[in-house]
Amino acid sequence: MKSKWDTKIAEKIKHPLDLRVYSSRLLGSDPTLVLHGGGNTSVKFIEKDPWSKPIELAYIKGSGWDLGNIERAGFSPVKLAELCKMLEFEDLSDSKMVKLLRASMTDPYAPTPSVEAILHGLIPFRFVDHTHADAVVTITNTQKGLQFIKEIYGDEIIIIPYVMPGFILAKEIANLTRELDWHSIKGMILMNHGVFTFSDDAKTSYENMIQLVSKAEAFLKKKKAFNVKSTQKTPIVEPIGIAKIRKTVSEKAGFPMLARLKSDSISNIFAKGKKLNSYSQQGPLTPDHVIRTKRIPAIIEDFVPKGIDQFSNSYITYFKKHASKGLNCLDSAPRWAVLKHTGVLSFGKSVKEVSIIDDISKHTMQSILRAEKLGGWKALSEKDIFEMEYWELEQAKLITQKISPVFQGKVALVTGAASGIGKACVEKLVSQGAVVSAIDISRDIKTCFSSHSVLGIHCDITNQQKVKQAVERTVLEFGGLDLLISNAGSFPRSLSIKDMNSDIWNHSLNCNLTSHQNLLSLTIPYLEEGLEPAVVLVGSKNVPAPGPGASAYSCAKAALTQLGRVAALELGSLGIRINTVHPNAVYDTNLWNQDILKKRAEIYGLSIKSYKKNNVLNTEITSDDVAELVCTILGKPFSKTTGSQVPIDGGNERII
Ligand SMILES: [Zn+2]
Repeated sequence: MKSKWDTKIAEKIKHPLDLRVYSSRLLGSDPTLVLHGGGNTSVKFIEKDPWSKPIELAYIKGSGWDLGNIERAGFSPVKLAELCKMLEFEDLSDSKMVKLLRASMTDPYAPTPSVEAILHGLIPFRFVDHTHADAVVTITNTQKGLQFIKEIYGDEIIIIPYVMPGFILAKEIANLTRELDWHSIKGMILMNHGVFTFSDDAKTSYENMIQLVSKAEAFLKKKKAFNVKSTQKTPIVEPIGIAKIRKTVSEKAGFPMLARLKSDSISNIFAKGKKLNSYSQQGPLTPDHVIRTKRIPAIIEDFVPKGIDQFSNSYITYFKKHASKGLNCLDSAPRWAVLKHTGVLSFGKSVKEVSIIDDISKHTMQSILRAEKLGGWKALSEKDIFEMEYWELEQAKLITQKISPVFQGKVALVTGAASGIGKACVEKLVSQGAVVSAIDISRDIKTCFSSHSVLGIHCDITNQQKVKQAVERTVLEFGGLDLLISNAGSFPRSLSIKDMNSDIWNHSLNCNLTSHQNLLSLTIPYLEEGLEPAVVLVGSKNVPAPGPGASAYSCAKAALTQLGRVAALELGSLGIRINTVHPNAVYDTNLWNQDILKKRAEIYGLSIKSYKKNNVLNTEITSDDVAELVCTILGKPFSKTTGSQVPIDGGNERII
């Protein structure tokens, strides 16, 4: 590990808080030091209070901030004298500690300081850096961890046995360092937890961290426990098995979850390990991961969700064993699962959550595999982890989440998604919390959406094999399929029946009917494993009110509508709803431009403006209006409706 300190940048930074931001970000930029909100830092200096009296403050990283992108506002100013005075208490409950910390802040709008605030106050240096460095935590989580740490560092650090973070840890360290000459050490190694370094100088504190972690890495290398390599063979993956697993996980959680399969080198070697049942079932890399990942992953054999049931049952047993009165059991769903011989699945309500689990599980697996080469992985006890998992201060980090959007955790597939109604549907679904596989014949689809919640797939929907691949890719990326919007279509050249040519006729039937039937057939097995599964077919006003010259289009759309009615009958008993919308006069799509609009309006002797509103309600219909209706049909208001046809045309005299 190398120092990223850039003297040219650092020299220009004058204020100690800005320097604190700079070096905190250096730490946060390396995922082998801290991950997703892990670690914390602080700086102490004298400021003037509102009455111009000097006051010594400790600016401590606020809860909920990431070191990687922290700003000035992410640090909470706490009066140092009051912080140190808190150590005089024999006991201090967590809620009282938070109350006191907040009362000692000079800015009531700043975030609540880290749970390690008192410890930061106690360390007698201006800059204090704390990480959960992989290499160090790996070594402390082994059978001979203590012995190794002594061997690596000798007297340059002090060793702190594991105790709960927060007041208890600060108190423990206060006792252990009473006689200590702080200047004689470079840092502290906290067993099963992490590293602290400190100095009056930001650079020294940061570089001491890099040095201590580098020594741990060098030790792992010396013991040939650093590199974890595998001869990876591409595993056989069963998308339908993944969809079943994800459904069971969501049922155990009580809310929809996404699932993402990872079968990279580390996941693969981890999942193939002979001692998987032992090393994977001990505990997390560092205790605060437990609120994200739960204590251990589920183990799944042969893509059968039985492993999820087993995890859930043993989670409830674990809760009952350790819980004190008045504690409520969290949901019993795992947050990651090892698919034996294949890879690893991460679960979460959103792509962001899944990515966090991906990152944490990757670092955990790598550390476990290294520790196995170093004599054997040995995580903290079940009881210690339980206390962390149900620690009110950790749980508080999760409670700040807002009410979930309606489609959070749901997976949708939309065809014809690069423009018009399809694009509007993708955007509407994402805004309501869904992840979407957006399919289109246009290559632009890959760059059409900037959201991480959208997977753009370039695919011609009339190509059966390509559509099958697109559906399977969707399931592997997001874990399943719940919502289908079969929208792609084409409007053929206007021709009378007398002049019809077979190419135009066949293409329209292929694109506007057969491709939908094929997509529906391919997705039914996944929808069966979906969560409140629902399908919307995009029909046309031409079904109830056809126009001359449009037989190829109208017939295909009429048959598509009939397909939807039969599907509603066939799929109802499986809980899959299928409804059809009949839009008309949606002019903000690729099919229309100003020239065509002008010509059409002239035929009716209308201005473009009047032509657009040529319906009973005298209103314009946009792609966004159709998307709104489609999402409503996919959601709760239509949860008791199937086989219906809903017009969205501003009211059509020929139909009414
Ligand atoms: Zn920590």
